[in-house]
Amino acid sequence: MEAIDSKKLFAPRKLRKEVIDEGLCPFCGGCAAGCPYLAQYKGRIVQLDNCTLPEGNCYQYCPRTYTDIDAISRKIFGVPFTGEGIGNAKEIFLAKSTDPEIRGKAQGGGVITALLSVALSEGIIDAAIGTRLSDGKTTDGLLARNIVTSMSGDSSPVGILARSKKEVLQTAEADYATARVLSTLNSIPKESSERLAMIGLPCQVASVSKRKMSPPENRAKMDNVRLVISLFCATKKWLEPGEDRKYINEACSYCWDWTGEFADISVGSGRAKFKDWNIVIVRTNAGAELVDVAKGKGALETQPIPDESLAIEEKASLDKKKRALKNIIAKTGDRKDLLYLGLSEATVNRLLT
Ligand code: SF4
Ligand code: SF4
Repeated sequence: MEAIDSKKLFAPRKLRKEVIDEGLCPFCGGCAAGCPYLAQYKGRIVQLDNCTLPEGNCYQYCPRTYTDIDAISRKIFGVPFTGEGIGNAKEIFLAKSTDPEIRGKAQGGGVITALLSVALSEGIIDAAIGTRLSDGKTTDGLLARNIVTSMSGDSSPVGILARSKKEVLQTAEADYATARVLSTLNSIPKESSERLAMIGLPCQVASVSKRKMSPPENRAKMDNVRLVISLFCATKKWLEPGEDRKYINEACSYCWDWTGEFADISVGSGRAKFKDWNIVIVRTNAGAELVDVAKGKGALETQPIPDESLAIEEKASLDKKKRALKNIIAKTGDRKDLLYLGLSEATVNRLLT
């Protein structure tokens, strides 16, 4: 039996040293519930015991360990990552659900709930991984978007495997709260043949993208994850170096992704001008097929997005990339050390000009 080198950093310790202790963890949940040693507790990832695996899923699929952005883009879209605008898109438009029950519960236009309901009723998926608010009072505004704060009370979002419209409706109110979707994904046994959709924030989509690059052997098969839907990240404010970090999870200031650029479909708010609508970005064939079915069933009302609204989203997306790079470089002091972010020098230079 191989002797255990006590000086070696094993997977959870590496994760703690390189990600959690460095303030890079946005609590995506990717490492939780995947093994007996890591758990989520009151908005934190806690290590319950020592693990002796040099490389574990927790480290490999964490979106804040090294992530080759270009390789993911090639895998999902067949093209390199350029960093431009809102990422690869087949179609962008405004939409809202036509179902009064969904509209009555959902934030904005209820597009995600509508899409999931159609995907379930048409047999495209068997279950959707989302979140619902646990019993207790609901947190609002910025605090709901600060993972650490929002997870510390009774109102924590909890992961849910929704298999019916009724269960999907439970997720509608929690769309913009931070979530435990990845720990729910981690909990699905590898023998499961259920076809899944997953709804998450861009950092959670990034973890799923890493799984697509190199699928786990002991978890739900990635081929069964038929659809990944990303919310635009609802964080309202990014920090400049030295700014007060009281109400923001530091990790979010190193996040580049506004819309969830590696999702099949990204959905955001129509903002004040279209407050009852969602902005929908269709990125992949799987996303386009679902949207076509939803439109065909009359589940969505759509309209073109005006150029000025699209320009606002493109600017927000580019600004987030620039801010993330600026904050990362301020932290490392080295333009070539981008922490977790695997971007080519050419892309970095282009984004920072
Ligand atoms: S970013 Fe996600 S996977 Fe990485 S340490 Fe935090 S919770 Fe775990
Ligand atoms: S800003 Fe980024 S890291 Fe933070 S919650 Fe949003 S997607 Fe995740």
